[in-house]
Amino acid sequence: MSEIDWEKYWEELKSKLSPYRKIAWEPQTQEQVTEISDSKFCGMPLLTAEGWPECGNCNEPMQLFVQLNSKDLPEASNTPFGDGILQVFYCANENSSCEADCDTWAANSKATLLRILPLNTPAQTEVTLIPSSDYPELKITGWEELEDYPDTFELEELGVELSEDEEDFLCEDEAPFSGEKLLGWPHWVQGIEYQSCKICNKQMQFIFQIDSSGNIPYMFGDSGCAHISQCTEHKEQLAMAWACC
Ligand SMILES: [Zn+2]
Ligand SMILES: [Zn+2]
Repeated sequence: MSEIDWEKYWEELKSKLSPYRKIAWEPQTQEQVTEISDSKFCGMPLLTAEGWPECGNCNEPMQLFVQLNSKDLPEASNTPFGDGILQVFYCANENSSCEADCDTWAANSKATLLRILPLNTPAQTEVTLIPSSDYPELKITGWEELEDYPDTFELEELGVELSEDEEDFLCEDEAPFSGEKLLGWPHWVQGIEYQSCKICNKQMQFIFQIDSSGNIPYMFGDSGCAHISQCTEHKEQLAMAWACC
């Protein structure tokens, strides 16, 4: 028996999945000091007059996980969340158990904050309170375009019939891409978990993925993967949820 040419196998499978192909962008990063409004992982966020956002449970300042400035996104992504600076704060305070106490795996936790600040928000430069966790600041310096495909759960929902071999192949992490990315298909860990808007109840749009121990030295449960989504109509409605094995 001849050996399977996996490259060819994947090319053939990709052509079968081509109706569901989406472009995703993987952030390219560099450890360096950034400007206040730059796109970044961790470090110093753009702050309003209220100062550094505090956790609703332990009242300590929350860690900035990611800040995305719509001006820095790839042009072809068409400003997916609108114009502004998207920020995700998460309580990573090691002296409290906010992750467990506040169900941070689910949307609308007291220990997370997601918001979009207008591009012209005046920067608050006098900051007295900063988080105790000392995560390295990574500037997002560019984006690498990726072809992304749905996972086997979503393909089943979409009515695509896969052979066992094809399913196994996809489950080997070929698709969807599992690291940090803008748009594309979510890398679900426990099955499809799109969030619904609190106002209109419609399915929210997946915007950004944060994986465990990637650009952020943080583990969501046991190597979980987090997804940030937004209602296409109620743009202020943002949600982050994560799942792990
Ligand atoms: Zn907390
Ligand atoms: Zn809505």
